[in-house]
Amino acid sequence: MNLSNKDVIHIKKNGIEYLQFRKLLEYKDKVKHAYSVGIDKNFRTARVGGLSPEEYNKSLNDYKDLCESVGSNYINIVKPNQRHTNEVKIVNEKINLNAPDFGMEQYDSTDGVITNKENIVLSTTNADCIILLFYDPVKNVIANIHSGWKGTLHRIAVNAVRKMRAEFGCKPEDIIACMCPSIRKCHFEVEQDVRDLYVEEFQDIPEEEWLEETIKSKKWHIDTVALNKIMLKKEGLKEENIVDSGICSVCNSELLHSYRAEGKNFNLSSAIIELKTL
Ligand SMILES: [Zn+2]
Repeated sequence: MNLSNKDVIHIKKNGIEYLQFRKLLEYKDKVKHAYSVGIDKNFRTARVGGLSPEEYNKSLNDYKDLCESVGSNYINIVKPNQRHTNEVKIVNEKINLNAPDFGMEQYDSTDGVITNKENIVLSTTNADCIILLFYDPVKNVIANIHSGWKGTLHRIAVNAVRKMRAEFGCKPEDIIACMCPSIRKCHFEVEQDVRDLYVEEFQDIPEEEWLEETIKSKKWHIDTVALNKIMLKKEGLKEENIVDSGICSVCNSELLHSYRAEGKNFNLSSAIIELKTL
């Protein structure tokens, strides 16, 4: 099965599969990136939750393989300990190589990381949540943002853009935002409580653009991808620079990890992005 479409390319190389955005490949001399494909891979590294040493080592190997496929080195990974916050932090240096957690302790309760430094592989993981990869080719700044339903509700993508502006002088019209596979409106059905939180928060965006009641009613489908696109446009990003993979993780759960499809023992996919040494 092949997930390639007009915006992403599905690469299979030496038993490793990953997606790349055609838009970011236009800058392949300056930036490397990948989104993992394959449910035999797992990018969970937190030992909490009972990850055995064998499982942990397998995750490290999966990171190693994914990184090597795009010419990165997994020892340069910086990965926040995601907690569904809207907290975005700047990464200025590599993590001590003796710390096997890729910096999850240092970047705890953080769901987005930004850097303008080379040789730092920014990584986040997901299983239905949206991951946004940002790149500003003018200022040469990258970001890797995890935006699940809570992150979207609390507008973490907007926080990321504002931080790129404030810290690095990035202009919104230069920033490219790529949205990795995630749960989509087709499968993101919520109850009244979540619907109410969204309606309260997104009064600035017409409901018909992101909310739909199911036929049987008292359940709703929310289009978190559309909301992120609209938020980013309002923030000044150009429409042609907001790129959506268009791939639903639940519809494609034979290739991509999905919380809704796998249940409580779900595993994780990963997106990586790194600035090349110029
Ligand atoms: Zn779906």
